[in-house]
Formats: sequence, structure tokens, C-alpha cells
Amino acid sequence: MAFSFEIDRTAAEGGRRGRLRLPHGVVETPVFMPVGTAASVKAVEQGVLEEIGAGGNGAQIILANTYHLYLRPGHVLVRTMGGVHRFMSWERPMLTDSGGFQVFSLSALRKVTSEGVEFRSHLDGSKHFFSPEHSMDVQIALGADIAMVFDECVETPASWERTRESMGLTHAWAQRSKDHFELHKETVPWFEALGGAMQSLFGIVQGGMYADLRKESAERLVEMELPGYAVGGLAVGEPREVTREMIARTLEFLPEDKPRYVMGVGYPDEIEEYARMGVDMMDCVLPTRAGRHGLLFLREEIGGPVVRMNIKRKEFAEDQRPIDESCRCMVCRRYTRAYLRHLFVAGEPLGLTLNSVHNLAFYLDTMERVRRELAAGI
Ligand SMILES: [Zn+2]
Repeated sequence: MAFSFEIDRTAAEGGRRGRLRLPHGVVETPVFMPVGTAASVKAVEQGVLEEIGAGGNGAQIILANTYHLYLRPGHVLVRTMGGVHRFMSWERPMLTDSGGFQVFSLSALRKVTSEGVEFRSHLDGSKHFFSPEHSMDVQIALGADIAMVFDECVETPASWERTRESMGLTHAWAQRSKDHFELHKETVPWFEALGGAMQSLFGIVQGGMYADLRKESAERLVEMELPGYAVGGLAVGEPREVTREMIARTLEFLPEDKPRYVMGVGYPDEIEEYARMGVDMMDCVLPTRAGRHGLLFLREEIGGPVVRMNIKRKEFAEDQRPIDESCRCMVCRRYTRAYLRHLFVAGEPLGLTLNSVHNLAFYLDTMERVRRELAAGI
């Protein structure tokens, strides 16, 4: 199946109900993508991922991190195993990031030149070099449905001058990513098995917290005619109003007929807000990371505000209710708050799994409702 994006309906506020067709299947948008860092959505097994959320339909698309898979087990091994889909036994769509964000946030002793980034692994201190071309080679070997251009993530806060300089590098790297990708995209592991289908390469708009730079970055990337565009470098510690403002200022300059992806956001109410502004794709580690820390998301009434519950608290020790009485997830249908608290306090791994499953279901249900409401014009 070749890449396509169609929009059924656009709301007055900008929210779009659409559909992304990818080599491994169809993704209904707006969509939330669970993060499977090292080819695993932490603590949640693939069979469960396929069933959680609205109507038991499960996650439509997940994300994997290029930096982590490159370091361990290595992209060559993943390619030998048939690509990341086959390696982890996940036959639905996937997306890989470029590795840029992790190189800049996790690794030590980075040295950035116009060629690329030299860095040391956060695992064993070994030295590595990532260039746009190398990021493309790694992502093609991993073989997700969507790959991302290699970008520099500027530190925050950063001055306008520093941000503009970094953005210039990101644009040059985007062009190099595209040129290399176009030459080598037919070497994706499933090229023949899927009848000559190929990955799609998305661009990443940078520009920090400066609206004029966001505009410039969006315009520059749009000239490169990529099939989709991400907004990167947000949710890195800035106030929420700034995140929202930067998303709004960027969306204005992105083509309406291409998917828009905001990377690394957010809380459940944020993903709903951004979807209603016209964002089609989002990913975040929050539902699983919060779950592993005993933090659960719920609504006390249907349509009410999102509440955060710390399952460790003693007040839940004898609480017979499910996490969320209106949630139909496999955890809430079966287990009490008291049992989940016990698992967490006792350090039982099942507790981390069940908390992650509920939170993921909560995110997927939220997005399913938003899609339904956008389709109905609500
Ligand atoms: Zn639930």
C-alpha cells in the first residue's frame, strides 16, 4: 500500500478527521502513538497492545527510537531479522524518530559539526557518529513505515541567534536526509514482500520558542515537498501556553493536505487540545512512564476533567472500585484500586503492566472520542 493521507472533515477550530494509509495498514487520525523505545512499549506485550482501547481495536501505530535500537541490538541485526516489524512481531504501522533527540538528550560528550554529531553511548561510553545519511541508513534498516529527517535539537532555553543557527543546520540536514533517503529507500527490508511499498520520510520543523523562526522553518521544509511534517523541539520544559502558541504558529504554515505530527506531547487534555487545533499525530512516553511510577489518569465523570491518581496512596488500600468507573479497559473491567495499590507497593511487575495498560487505553479512548466528535462536527 502506497502512502496517502485523506481528510474527511475539518472543524472550524482546525481539527481534522482523516486517515493515513501506510505499507503496514491504515491509521485513523488524529492518532496517539504509544512509544516502544527499544522495540517494546515498556511492560506491555504486543498482543495486549493490539487489544487495548476503544472497541478492543488497540494501538494503530507505535513509535520506536532509532538511537536505542542502533546502540542495542544494532540496526544490522534488526535488518537481518527482517526489520523492526518482524523482529518484534508487530505487523501494524510503525514510525521511527531520527535519533537526533536522544543523541542530544541522553548521550555525553557531543561534538556537533556541519557533517553530523559525534557522541558517546549512554550505555557503555563507546564513541559513535551520526550524520543525516547515517540516520537514514539506520532507519531504512529498521524499516518503520515512517522515518524522520535527522535534526539538531537546540538546548532550552536558547537565544534567538543560537536557535536560528541550529535551525539552519536542521534544514541542511533535512535536505541531505531526503537526498540520501531517495537513493536508498528501495533497500527497506520489506520492499519486495509488500509489493514494492516504501517508507515515507517526514520533515521536522524547529525554531525553538520563536514564532518567526517557526514560520521560517516551516516554509523552508515545505519547499522540500516531504509527505508529512512534524513539529519538534517542544514540550522540553517551556510553559504549556508557549507549547500551544508554537504549535498554532507552525500549523499556519504547513500544507493542509499533509499530515502534521507534534513530537513528544503530552498530557491527555493536551493531546485532545492539539488534535482539535489540527494536529494529526502525537506520541509520548507519558502514559507508560507515569504508569510505571504509579500515576494513573482517569475522569471522575464522563466528559469531566482529567484527574491524576497516585495509586501508592494509603486511601486506596481497601478501595473496591476500578481505577475509572467509566473506563472499559481490560484492567478496569477486572481489578480493584486496592489490588493495583498492593501490586505497586509490593513491587510486583504486574502492577507496572496493568498501570501502563490502563493509561494507554485512556489515551487511545480519548483520541477515539475526539475522532468520533470531529466526524460528527462536535
Ligand atoms: Zn481502565
